[in-house]
Amino acid sequence: MGKRATIADRIEAFVKRLEGGAVCDDCITDRLDFSSIAQTAVVTHAAGGTGGFERLKAPCDLCAQTKPVIRHRDP
Ligand SMILES: [Zn+2]
Repeated sequence: MGKRATIADRIEAFVKRLEGGAVCDDCITDRLDFSSIAQTAVVTHAAGGTGGFERLKAPCDLCAQTKPVIRHRDP
């Protein structure tokens, strides 16, 4: 058991830091330096609807394109 954060941990922390801002899978993948958007997509699809995360189609805060994004809202 190491201290290394999982991909899911890193993505969830990143989205939470945006404090309600929406971000797309492409931008998450780019900012966290993952090798494949598929890694990000698996996590964002699973997180949507749980723990304050929601997926929707909206402008991404980082690239400004309207596409599927994820955001976090505190309950
Ligand atoms: Zn984006």
